[in-house]
Amino acid sequence: MPKCPNCTAHARQPVKEWNFGQFRVKMYNCAKCGNQFREYFMGNTLKFVLSAHNGGLAKIGATKETMDRHKIY
Ligand SMILES: [Zn+2]
Repeated sequence: MPKCPNCTAHARQPVKEWNFGQFRVKMYNCAKCGNQFREYFMGNTLKFVLSAHNGGLAKIGATKETMDRHKIY
């Protein structure tokens, strides 16, 4: 499960999912702080995260932790 980039609470199911160019986008709303963030996947790989918690959508690099979390075994 993805973590909120603002408060690190775990998000549940994506609110919305759509294709953006060659990306698959998953949008989440954090139940704890209300932050909205989006994950951009290429295939099964998380490429980057956009988070609205600092006033605008900030690009956050995918960490090893986020990569591992989404790995499909
Ligand atoms: Zn949060």
